[in-house]
Amino acid sequence: MLLSKIFLYEEPSVPEINFDSLANFLQDFFRVPVIKRKNIFHQKGLDVAHDVARTRVYNYRQEFQIHDPTTEEVQFEFESFVNSAETENIVLYDGFELQKILTGLIGNDESESDILHLVLTNKLTCTFDNSDYRYHGRALIGSNPAIISTTGIIEAPAKPREYYMDLMKNYGIGLNIDSIKEKYKGTYLEYHDSRLDKIVQGYALQAIFYYIFGESFCDLLDCRLNNAHWQRDLLYSQLEFGRLCAKHEKAIKDWLTLNYSKKMALL
Ligand SMILES: [Zn+2]
Repeated sequence: MLLSKIFLYEEPSVPEINFDSLANFLQDFFRVPVIKRKNIFHQKGLDVAHDVARTRVYNYRQEFQIHDPTTEEVQFEFESFVNSAETENIVLYDGFELQKILTGLIGNDESESDILHLVLTNKLTCTFDNSDYRYHGRALIGSNPAIISTTGIIEAPAKPREYYMDLMKNYGIGLNIDSIKEKYKGTYLEYHDSRLDKIVQGYALQAIFYYIFGESFCDLLDCRLNNAHWQRDLLYSQLEFGRLCAKHEKAIKDWLTLNYSKKMALL
């Protein structure tokens, strides 16, 4: 897939993500214009709030079922459109259903296949996994529009195994989550973590690679396209290693040449 431009939609509730530098990073990387947009739900009305509320997951052990949202649930969504930072409770949304709603928000004149829409949101996207019959949080929902869930980045990759062991052990003697969190501090991402800025670049690369090549993930830990199941691996691939593997480096180099010559041919 060739690209002529990327629209990037911000999530203002996560100021740790420097939106301008993310746009510049992607523009330099893929050498196409990256156009910055406000949050995709900016100034959207009650009708969209109603549609979004319908994508909520009510039973994480059951495949998606549409239900009629209550007035409070619609109001909750509407208020999140006005100020997404006020959303405190974590709500689960079916990622593919939410993607359908977002598709409907994109104008016909911007729905050409060479225009990629990359949406940042703090809504927690989830997908149902048929192997264990439950929903799992996802940081990335691929395709176009692609969704990067900032809450998913924090909640989806698992914390160290020892962290959960300590939590379980402490249930018996009176739980003190804060001291356990303190013990493992730094080994996983927290809300408003300054490292999110660099981490989100990696997910943006994965989203765009998926759209261009139809595959987003790399098996190698030594690659920013690695689909991390553990926070430890995420931090390693994105921060310590921080670049692509040789195979993906070559793939993007070849694609850049192809995309550039197509652009020239159109001039
Ligand atoms: Zn790779």
